[in-house]
Formats: sequence, C-alpha cells, structure tokens
Amino acid sequence: MRCVGIDLGGTAIKAGAVTPAGEILARGSRATGLEKGAAHVLDTIAELARELGAQGGLGLGVPGLVDHARGRIESCPNLKVMERLPLREELARRLSFDPARIVLENDANAAAAGEHWLGTGRGERDLLLVTLGTGVGGGLILDGKLYVGRGGMAGEIGHVVVEPGGRACGCGAKGCVETLASATAAARRARELGLPRGNPGDLVELARLARASDGPERELLLAVGRDLGYALATVVSLLDVRTFVIGGGFGAATDVLAPGVLAGIRARSYGERLADVRGRPALLGADAGWIGAAAPLAR
Ligand SMILES: [Zn+2]
Repeated sequence: MRCVGIDLGGTAIKAGAVTPAGEILARGSRATGLEKGAAHVLDTIAELARELGAQGGLGLGVPGLVDHARGRIESCPNLKVMERLPLREELARRLSFDPARIVLENDANAAAAGEHWLGTGRGERDLLLVTLGTGVGGGLILDGKLYVGRGGMAGEIGHVVVEPGGRACGCGAKGCVETLASATAAARRARELGLPRGNPGDLVELARLARASDGPERELLLAVGRDLGYALATVVSLLDVRTFVIGGGFGAATDVLAPGVLAGIRARSYGERLADVRGRPALLGADAGWIGAAAPLAR
C-alpha cells in the first residue's frame, strides 16, 4: 500500500508516496499555477495524486487555517483563491475517492507530524516543531499525537510576545518572537549590524562565520537564539515539552542557534526538566510537509 501526501504551497506543490512502514517510494512536484485559478490547482493536485499511485486516500497539507469538519481552507493569505472551496469534495470527485479518505491539515502541523513519524522526532512522546522562515511557525505533538487545538491553531509559537512594546508584528501585536527570530528578522538584525561584513544579511555566511570563530556573528546568533528560547520557555513551563525540532530555511543554523535557545529557555523556565531540554535540527527538509500529510493514511 502507498500513502500519498501533497504539500500545497503558494508557488509549488510538493508531493510523494510512502509506505505505512515509512519507506519513501516516489516524489513529485509542480508549479502551483495560482494565476490559472482554483480549478487548475485542484486538477494539478489530482494529477499528481494519480501519478504517485494514490489508492483510495490522499493527505493534503495547506498553508492556512483548516476547517476539518467541512474539509476546506477557512483562511489562507497566500492562496486566496482556495479559501472556502469545498476542497475535500472537489478532490474526492476528481479522484473517485471516499471524501472521508481525503485528509486536510495545516502545513506546519503536517510538518510536525512528518518529523515525528520519520524525522528528528521519531520515537519522541512530545515535541514542538518550530519553523524559521519568513515567519515563525510551529506544530505540536503531545503524547505521540498531533495536537491542533479547538481551532486548529495550536503550536503557533510565532506570536508569543517576548519583547513587550517591541517591533510591530504582522499579527497586530508588538514584539512577537517572529519579529526577532524568523529568518527575515535575523537577516534584518544582521543588516543593522553590518554582518557579515561584505554581504550584510546573508544568513548562510553569517552561520558559517559563527561556526568558525567566536566573533560578532556568533554573538548575534546567540542573541537570536536566546529570543527564540524565551518563547520556548513558555512551552516548557506550560506543557513540559522538552524536545524542540527546528526547521525552515534558517533551521540550517540550528547548531549555532541552539546554545542561545537553551540559554533563553533556562533564563525563563526552571526545574530539573531543563537538563533534558534539547533543540535539534529538523531532518526532512522540504519533504516534511507531504510526509506528515500522508501520515494519517498509514494508520
Ligand atoms: Zn505576531
């Protein structure tokens, strides 16, 4: 049996097939082609699903708020044309599947499920996946299962305020961790300091220099990590989660961010559990979303 998962993004649709035992069988991708309209996007998803040999079921990760009961995307700033479409029914019709076997999930939640099933979080009871990209996203695994909360937004760590009165965030609040520790924010902080010299704001080079020597680059990444750690301390205090899996593009700098992250957590949380707290890089990269979307089909 093959479980097919699709990760629907604003510019690309990534997909793949995996066995229930976790063996990856195939991958595929297409341009989303949003400009061609919602019907085109639905056709493309169905085409990919068929190509990958989907059998009776399909998992779909989407970058927005999912209405699980209705099988549609409630709100989705990057995919406006897909909002409130009967997504599950439309795909079920195109593929002749039982709508109950089309499973929708928010993409960050799906990525957390993916890392828990086949990535860094394998075998962990609890974890928070934190994605550092344009923003700071997250997905929460509690007691071995994805926890999405009543409205599907659990695990969205990006809007925990760590600097009251700080920089304005897209959400309307000020000083959210997203304004301090996303890839975008880290690049801005680097540019403000003129780091790295010669190409300010280049995070790959910044991380390389931070690894190489104990200079201003390492200091900046420690500070960025610490701000992220302040937000994660609330997770440790509230849920006693001790494993943080760090993904997204900027997650590639986890090795140099982790000391700051742990310092931030220790500064704002307490107890013996701190000895177990770990920040580890995500393993699956761009595959996490489709793998996690397919995960429910493997059960
Ligand atoms: Zn915010």
